[in-house]
Amino acid sequence: ILTDGAGVIKALNAAAEKLTGVPAAQAAGRRVGDVFGGNGLDSAALETLFSGKPVSKELSAAFKERVDLRVQAAPVREGGLVTGCVLVAHDVTELKKVERMRKEFVANVSHELKTPLTAIKGNIETLLGGAVDDRAHRGEFLNSVLRQAGRLEGLVDDLLRLSSLESATVAVELSEFSPRLLAGEAHAALLPAFKGKTLSFANSIPEGLKIRADRAKLEQVFFNLLDNAFKFTPGGGCISAETEDSGDNIKFLIRDTGPGVPAKDLPRLFERFYRVDKARSRELGGTGLGLSIVKHAVELHGGSVGAESVEGRGSAFWFTLPK
Ligand code: ADP
Repeated sequence: ILTDGAGVIKALNAAAEKLTGVPAAQAAGRRVGDVFGGNGLDSAALETLFSGKPVSKELSAAFKERVDLRVQAAPVREGGLVTGCVLVAHDVTELKKVERMRKEFVANVSHELKTPLTAIKGNIETLLGGAVDDRAHRGEFLNSVLRQAGRLEGLVDDLLRLSSLESATVAVELSEFSPRLLAGEAHAALLPAFKGKTLSFANSIPEGLKIRADRAKLEQVFFNLLDNAFKFTPGGGCISAETEDSGDNIKFLIRDTGPGVPAKDLPRLFERFYRVDKARSRELGGTGLGLSIVKHAVELHGGSVGAESVEGRGSAFWFTLPK
């Protein structure tokens, strides 16, 4: 945006028209404060015109939608006089969002690490304070330390999985295999953790079906989805693995007859650390990262993920893979 020495707009380029939604023809000849007043762009220009010095500002402006801007105003000089101002704005909305997410993530990770650490410390202090000589109860404290250490380990494992899936150099090793067998293997791998729970599992993925994908990553996908279904579904329930043909994609669904998910939470389930009930998830040994690992692994294959649920009746978590 170019103004004259009095702050009257002389020109607006196509990018500025697009960003602000104001056509150049409408802005030219009007004061910068009348066209862009109230969102800070005008004050950057005026400051520069008054001081004759460049000005940088970060601001949040409401045009068609709210955008974060990094604005630089520079004076135009002719013969020592300030005869105008050039305003350059960079849209940093996406950058700000990423920065916010990063901060939130660090805060979440720290919190998740701290909870088991505090419990471990508390148990050890109790042991050192005398419980170590209490033959009848010391085992409980030690078992609690072991459980919490297991939680820390699970969290660190999931963080490493997530960071390796997110890294720019992640390798996708394609091979051809039967997804039915893979789902069966994931089911077998998680069974020992659910020894005391009676749940039926129906693997309805067709026997003849073959896919080309990264086997280890897809095993993790099946494992995480089945693990959730087994964790959240009360004993006596049914879990199934199914496929649907959806045009260019194959859709895989893991259905359960568990508690389901409230509609308002469904769109956020695949976010890191998002949990409907934090306490319940922790009690069941969850890290809150399982579904975001699923999402990353599936998206690496060019597929997508989602969940459908009727609260109180069960859920279906699905992912697609391109044919
Ligand atoms: P967690 O370690 O908590 O299982 P996930 O990322 O795997 O983390 O899942 C996030 C949340 O989604 C869970 O805490 C739970 O609230 C919800 N969820 C996932 N799977 C199911 C399911 N099969 N039934 C009901 N809720 C589920």
